[in-house]
Formats: sequence, structure tokens, C-alpha cells
Amino acid sequence: MADFPTTRQEQILGWLSESPSLSIDELVGRLGVSVMTIHRDLDQLARAGQVEKVHGGVIRADSRTRRTRALQVCRLCDAPVSERTQVIIQTAAAEPVYACCPHCGILLAVDTVQPTSILAKDFIYGRMVNAWTAYYLLNSSITLCCQPSYLCFSSRDDALNFQKGFGGQIATFDEARTQLEAEHHRGCDGPHMHSMGD
Ligand SMILES: [Zn+2]
Ligand SMILES: [Zn+2]
Repeated sequence: MADFPTTRQEQILGWLSESPSLSIDELVGRLGVSVMTIHRDLDQLARAGQVEKVHGGVIRADSRTRRTRALQVCRLCDAPVSERTQVIIQTAAAEPVYACCPHCGILLAVDTVQPTSILAKDFIYGRMVNAWTAYYLLNSSITLCCQPSYLCFSSRDDALNFQKGFGGQIATFDEARTQLEAEHHRGCDGPHMHSMGD
């Protein structure tokens, strides 16, 4: 009856929509399959973000789990956020805001009320670094996301070495922000940003 994994998994999800949790024993009894089979089904459902395994049983994945598993979208341009270039802006009040790359990240940071931290991905090492103290290589020949391209480096030396090979100008966070704002004021095709005043 419940021989097929997909049928069983649908059945499990169906039961979970009626009760928030189920024990492994209960599932073994209801489905008439082995404990191992149940674990395999639950593992697959958990990987898909549909359930959470807990000791001896399973619970519905809450909306928070599902949200963090879903692909983030850039708050500014709606592009899917790649881990390679992502920027995360954290505020005390709200959920973190994701940007696809430093280009959007710096523009968003200007518009964010009292960010507590801004993290950007170091272009070489792939670590999240403090965006305020990082260096940016603007308009180099490497474009991974938005144009003009902004690459982030935690060290000025790394940025300089990249500049030798790929051109562009090096800027601090503030300099990059000033440049971006100026660009967006000269007729932009992107979303309109507020002026910070003259
Ligand atoms: Zn973006
Ligand atoms: Zn981008």
C-alpha cells in the first residue's frame, strides 16, 4: 500500500498538517515499514526543508526554517543572491537584508536605518568581512553581478594586487558609497535612491 517513498512521504506530510509532531514509532505502526525506512523518508523530507527531525520523531518545518533555506533575493534589484558576492545588512530591529553584491549592498546600506553590521564576502577568501572597513575595487574588468562591478577585499594589499591585473579604482566603503550615489544621480536605470542631502 505505502510501498513507494513518494507516497509515504506525502502521507507523512498529510499527517503532519493535522498534528504538529509525530513519533517514529507511530509512523512505523501506521505505515508498516521498518524504522530505517522511516528515517530515510524523513531525511529526504528534511533535506527538502519540509520537516525537521527531532529526537524520536519529526515536526513540521516552521516558516522560519523554510525561509532560511529558500534562496535569498537582493532587496534592491531582486536578483538571486549568490554566496560568492553576497552582502548582509543587519539591523537591531528587523531580519537581515540581503544584497546580491557590494554594488547593491552599499546602496542599500545608505538607505538602511542604523545598521548594526554590514558583512560582505571577501572576493578572494570567501569569508564574510566587515564591509565598513573593507576595500572595494570599482570598475575592474571582472563583472560577476551588477555593473559597474564592485569587488570586496578585506585587505588593501589584496585589492592592489587585483588592480594590477584587472584594472579599476580602489575605494574605501565611504568612497565607494559617494561614487555610487553620484552614479545614481546621473540618470540611473536602477531603482531611485534618496539623496543624502548636499
Ligand atoms: Zn542587487
Ligand atoms: Zn549585484
